[in-house]
Amino acid sequence: MIDATHDPEASSWVASANGHPDFPIQNLPLGVLSYGTDSPRVVVAIGDMALDVGRLLSAGLLEGEAALAAQMASGQWLNALFAMGAGPRRALRTRLFALLSSKGRDRAPEDALKPIADGIVHLPAFIGDYTDFYAGIHHAMNVGKLFRPDNPLLPNYKHVPIGYHGRSSSVRPSGAPVVRPTGQRKSPDGDVPVFGPSQRLDYELELGVWIGPGNQLGSRIPIASAAAHIAGLSLLNDWSARDLQAWEYQPLGPFLAKSFITTVSPWVVTSEALAAYRLPQPPRPDGDPAPLPYLAGGEAYAIELDVLLETPAMRERKLAPHRLSRTEATNLYWTVEQLVAHHTVNGCNLQAGDLLGTGTISAPRADGYGSLLELTGGGKTALELPSGETRTFLQDGDTVIMRGRAHAPGRVSIGFGECRGTVAPSPPVS
Ligand code: CA
Repeated sequence: MIDATHDPEASSWVASANGHPDFPIQNLPLGVLSYGTDSPRVVVAIGDMALDVGRLLSAGLLEGEAALAAQMASGQWLNALFAMGAGPRRALRTRLFALLSSKGRDRAPEDALKPIADGIVHLPAFIGDYTDFYAGIHHAMNVGKLFRPDNPLLPNYKHVPIGYHGRSSSVRPSGAPVVRPTGQRKSPDGDVPVFGPSQRLDYELELGVWIGPGNQLGSRIPIASAAAHIAGLSLLNDWSARDLQAWEYQPLGPFLAKSFITTVSPWVVTSEALAAYRLPQPPRPDGDPAPLPYLAGGEAYAIELDVLLETPAMRERKLAPHRLSRTEATNLYWTVEQLVAHHTVNGCNLQAGDLLGTGTISAPRADGYGSLLELTGGGKTALELPSGETRTFLQDGDTVIMRGRAHAPGRVSIGFGECRGTVAPSPPVS
């Protein structure tokens, strides 16, 4: 539903919001920040500032459904608000827009605003379960070619959204250190595995999907109502140790190669904000099977996604982070609605605050690949960086930065904030 909160002419009295690449007044993403020793609180990003939602409630500036939404967001997590669905979330958005608009009658109190940069970001929700899908077909094809040159895309790929249950307790917000995992790896010509720090540490560029209202165990979420179960999106980095992965992934899929950390951008760009940036799912190529009826539906997002790399040498020389790739979320073969419908088709329950990863969103072009595994052809071709350095996989001290921008003709584009992580060395093995 497009309404006045998407008006491209709208501006805010919070000056940094106007022209802000991520958080103009048309966005109003939800997050959780803390300042000093205070408890984490639910806030809304507006320009460079965070607005404390609870302060609006105590100042008597919210009523009806917007007040109910703020009450549900009065703790440290957004789960209770997500569980209520779109109505209260939209009411809160409409009221926040009015309180921050340069044309509003009432204004949010200025002391309810603090610089985002002064706060500590936290996860927006308590993540009960995290599932990572594999919905980026170009990534699936590229990785398949490396692992199985004669059979890159397995026969089920175009019929069933592939996923696995990830590790919810190791999801962290942007900025958390990424400790290089240690484990077993075996080279193709080695007879036995060796043990040590991963030598092929990689990232995966994905979108994170925050679940709103869930479903009861034994029930399904039909595709036609799946959108109502999605609270919003973040960026997601599914850090991956390729050497551990290659040795352990058969027959049950990823395990220790993925579970050491997953990073999300800390802001939930709501489904309401994203309504202006949805578009029809691109048609499947000729000859591809139509999805089964329970999977027929959903839409794509017009979101441009970038991955940037900053090495310690680049930091020292004050070189800007180097863009490794740029892709579009329209490269997903499966819609997020299809992921939700499929996840629940067997009666599996989703809960408010659950997190889904879409899978790596690679473009068909080589400058749009969403992982180093793909960009370097499995580590065979090193990338050259502006510092004169080269990389196949990540080295200690490297920082990976992901950015996203939802865009549409005639609309102000909105962003996600950064999804960032710096690789820290493995602790010594005793
Ligand atoms: Ca992944």
